[in-house]
Amino acid sequence: MQITAISNIEKREHADCLVLPFWKGEKGAEAACDLGKLTAYSSLPIKVKDFTGKEGEVLWVYGSEPEESRIALLGLGNREGITIEKLRRAYGALTKAVLKRKCSSLSFLFPNVDLLNSELVAKAIGEGFFLANYVFDALKHDTLKQEPTVRITKVQCITSDQHAVLDALMTIEKTAKGVYLARDLTNGNADDITPQYLGRVAKQLESEYPTIEATVHDRDWIEKQGMGLLLAVGKGSEHPPVFIVAKYKGNPTSSDHTVIVGKGLTFDTGGLNLKPKGNIESQRVDMAGAAVALGTIKALAELSLPVNVTAVIASCENAISSKSYKPGDVYKAYSGKTVEITDTDAEGRLTLADALSWTVKNLQPTRVIDFATLTGSMVVALGSEVFGLMSNSDSLAQALLHSGEKTHERAWQLPLFEEYKEYLKSEIADIKNSAGREGGAILAAIFLQEFVGNTPWAHFDIAGVAFQKEGKRYYPKMATGIGIRLMIDYIESLIPKAQKGF
Ligand code: ZN
Ligand code: ZN
Repeated sequence: MQITAISNIEKREHADCLVLPFWKGEKGAEAACDLGKLTAYSSLPIKVKDFTGKEGEVLWVYGSEPEESRIALLGLGNREGITIEKLRRAYGALTKAVLKRKCSSLSFLFPNVDLLNSELVAKAIGEGFFLANYVFDALKHDTLKQEPTVRITKVQCITSDQHAVLDALMTIEKTAKGVYLARDLTNGNADDITPQYLGRVAKQLESEYPTIEATVHDRDWIEKQGMGLLLAVGKGSEHPPVFIVAKYKGNPTSSDHTVIVGKGLTFDTGGLNLKPKGNIESQRVDMAGAAVALGTIKALAELSLPVNVTAVIASCENAISSKSYKPGDVYKAYSGKTVEITDTDAEGRLTLADALSWTVKNLQPTRVIDFATLTGSMVVALGSEVFGLMSNSDSLAQALLHSGEKTHERAWQLPLFEEYKEYLKSEIADIKNSAGREGGAILAAIFLQEFVGNTPWAHFDIAGVAFQKEGKRYYPKMATGIGIRLMIDYIESLIPKAQKGF
């Protein structure tokens, strides 16, 4: 992406499209910055009320060469009610409208937003733009020949605050690279994005960034470690499980160490408790947690943040064959606990259990945070606007919720009352993996809690938000990459002020 900033509108390089921002005023749309002679393009649409300036409204008007032939009038909504999120949404809507017109270069006239901090405004506009400037076309062939995909590759910002705007956009682009990686992995074919493929992605990150060190352990190593739950879930598949450890070492002198554990089920049939039609088709998404973990590591390396963060992924496929693990059987976890399998579709928590207890024992992290498309119950409870957070540490939960608010990747906390433990008692083993639908999202977390000991731990159930059938706001169709911006914000908050350099 080529990003530039200038202060004088007359000196702009002409792009495929020029964007002019407007407020929704009482008597009609009002320019949100000085438009100079460009006012002429908007006066008639405003006069006849074809354009009112409401949030996310885009009206196309046409200029003449040599200036931009396309001009987009963009509505930001009411000046008094403006928020960071509304700016993200407006610029997300704009970016999608621009992609539809097959424009690859764009000039933004930046709005004057007196009510908000200018750095945050630039960041919000950048987030709206970068999050929406994504198209997944890797599985198209013939249609691409007829209609090649266009992405915006050149952006020029026209603003009095050139340096701050440029800085903000370049920073967002780095985080966006992590989000795009997560989306590409989540959207890809389950037969392509195998456990081995995720391992190769981790090794690729290692070769791209000197601050990343990745180890990919194979099935033999997993067996020697005694990760009986991961082995059980992966038994039915021709793709053996892998155990990935990708370390980002941004501050070797610090002992603070965050581990992100991601659920990496590259396809979840449900196992012998097979998922029904209508539910099984989207199960390639069941590695979205692993994608968030790898995407965060990539973004951290791009941003060169002075922190130490490791992604741990116990990846496998929950497939059906004569070797599949059996409902009713008991398997032994890495921690030594035995687990009765009451439902082979409650497999994510089994792989996470081995990943979490291995992490706690061998990495001794300051804190561990897991991301998982874990339960259908979560989707029923919270829908697709917010995701679930469960934690054994109030201070960690509060900090994560705060980062969720700031980034609008919002989480909602559910309780882990000890009475719930009763539900997972087994007659024949130490614990059972599922107790049915009631309180399903909480019971999954109660299960995981058995494997983290006293380490501060938070669990995000992203089943409702990782994938959206229809794109909305600044999200494209399908994978969202939700979780990465939250994590980057949270991890930034851990950096001592003296090291932030600002
Ligand atoms: Zn499942
Ligand atoms: Zn699953």
